[in-house]
Amino acid sequence: MKAIMPLVLVLVFLFSSFIGKSEFIYKWKDDFSEAEKTKVKKWLGITYRAVKARIGEYPFDVHLFIYRRDNQSEPCPWANTWRYPNQQVHFHIDPSYSLEEFLKDWTAPHELSHLAIPYIGEKETWFSEGFASFMQYQVMEEMGLVTVSQRDSSYSAKVNAASQSYTGNQSFGSEAMELKKNNNYAAMYWGGASFFLKWNRMLGKSGTNLCQVFESYLSDFRQKDRGVSEVVSSLDKSSGFSFGVELLKKYREEEVEVKYDVP
Ligand SMILES: [Zn+2]
Repeated sequence: MKAIMPLVLVLVFLFSSFIGKSEFIYKWKDDFSEAEKTKVKKWLGITYRAVKARIGEYPFDVHLFIYRRDNQSEPCPWANTWRYPNQQVHFHIDPSYSLEEFLKDWTAPHELSHLAIPYIGEKETWFSEGFASFMQYQVMEEMGLVTVSQRDSSYSAKVNAASQSYTGNQSFGSEAMELKKNNNYAAMYWGGASFFLKWNRMLGKSGTNLCQVFESYLSDFRQKDRGVSEVVSSLDKSSGFSFGVELLKKYREEEVEVKYDVP
């Protein structure tokens, strides 16, 4: 029995790497009680389950860095993602808030969704922020925090508010990055989200949707892609349609209508 144990362990290891199970690895950067750690693990565990249910499992482990920020006006006032040396999310939290309050916050659905696509550089952050903004309501709907119609009303309200900041005097891409320079982040984020909402609608008319396409994108392309063009063309390959590449050309080169009507 003893002799075959190492073999069993090797087989278990090979099998688990074959199925590509993605684990959470916690790094507690400040002092937290055991009860606070349990709450944080529940919050992020429930959120990641919803991400997986909506778009599939990430082909890598996710490293979570948790910092303490007491006396805040919200559970998670600041978070960001790092991609080096591994896939990381850094959450700055006030652990005095309840689990329910943490779960209602949009930050974790937004940040965990960022990791579904690779780092795309600073020149077109409207793309990565637009994607995470689109995804945050998909994940919140999966978590049962909003209904489909509440989700769509929020998309519409946020995109149409952002549209006020776009003059249409230059390409969408240039305007979005101009808005970022002027610290108008909401207009940059939700203008970018209109790209994904339009793409999702085109796929919807063809019997699929953007979230469904991610299942094969994550396993076949996520680890190889670099830059926006590659991500979009791989998502097109995964979907079997060329909507993404065509829409990206428009968003980069033309002034587009930043608009989303509730279906
Ligand atoms: Zn973001």
